[in-house]
Amino acid sequence: MEKANNDETVFVGVRLRPFLGYEARQHCFTASRNVISVRAPDRKKTDFAFDCVMDSTDASKPNYVSQEKCYDMIGRRIVQHSISGYHACLFCYGQTGSGKTFSCMGKKGEAEQGLLPRLLQDLLSQMESLPSGQVHCRAQILEVYNEKLRDLLSDKDSAKAPEIHVHPRVGVYVDGAIDVQIDSMEQLQKVLDTGMSRASVASTARNPKSSRGHVIFRLLMEKHEEDHTVVSSELFCVDLAGRENEKTTKVTGENFVELTFINRSLMWLSQCIQALGRQARKRSSSGSSGALEGSSRARFRNSKLTLLLINALTGNSKTCLLATVSPAVVNLDESLVTLNFASTVK
Ligand code: ADP
Ligand code: MG
Repeated sequence: MEKANNDETVFVGVRLRPFLGYEARQHCFTASRNVISVRAPDRKKTDFAFDCVMDSTDASKPNYVSQEKCYDMIGRRIVQHSISGYHACLFCYGQTGSGKTFSCMGKKGEAEQGLLPRLLQDLLSQMESLPSGQVHCRAQILEVYNEKLRDLLSDKDSAKAPEIHVHPRVGVYVDGAIDVQIDSMEQLQKVLDTGMSRASVASTARNPKSSRGHVIFRLLMEKHEEDHTVVSSELFCVDLAGRENEKTTKVTGENFVELTFINRSLMWLSQCIQALGRQARKRSSSGSSGALEGSSRARFRNSKLTLLLINALTGNSKTCLLATVSPAVVNLDESLVTLNFASTVK
């Protein structure tokens, strides 16, 4: 069994969702503190260790992980990193229908709220109590669909597609995308609602409302210090497009093209996260700055998603990955791909 690496630069959690109506209630996992074990007929018993494992299969069980508990286990650390001045990023990764959007956004009503609204609320209230300087926040919601960037806060679909630029000093900026100045949680909630309702949806054989694009929430923070210096950092929360096996999802034509784009961009993403972890380990063992060499920077240009996230995936940054998994035997093959992906980014 692989041992979980406690290097905080990349933190990986796994969450099992409840059974859905169409799934036979046949469990194939057992979850303990930080280990998830595969127990299925005709399968080799396999254990995977992560930084944390969240069992949300059954609300009547004492170890049930609610939305609030999930926030405590993985979301809260994003706020801490952000407040400490790091770029921070939270990814939700998994098969379509495994609970990415539920974990990330949640549903209306306080108990069902997902990680993003909770962490923003926390962040805003902590910023209010900061003793020095003033913090300015701007929010963007973007979508990468088939390698095309879309501004989910713009209601003009005919508008020119926003473009990503990398400035040697400023870093990444998105030309032609709206960013909304944020002053209150009510306003932020409105922004979230607008963005989410515009996310691309298309049908697959599995889930009639599956998201086929990566939805990226980006918060740009500028802290104005008393000595007039400005410290800027970014916070990302990414609801990744559902990764599926081309063979099992029965997709054809346009949907097949979507899936190819999705699977390829997820592969580039995993390589960038792995590199981030390696970089941090190198830094801590050698005491060097661990700055990225040119060849590593080039890796980010492989996809729009990684280019957009370059600040959050290089240097002074912390990443959390939440891998979401169906508990059902029918989805076991897809779930194993998810668990393997989550293991390799550590
Ligand atoms: P994805 O975004 O990965 O495609 P969703 O988040 O839409 O999947 O989840 C699929 C379904 O399962 C939704 O109806 C959602 O409400 C439900 N669901 C997912 N995770 C949970 C959970 N932890 N608790 C309760 N319901 C969940
Ligand atoms: Mg979704």
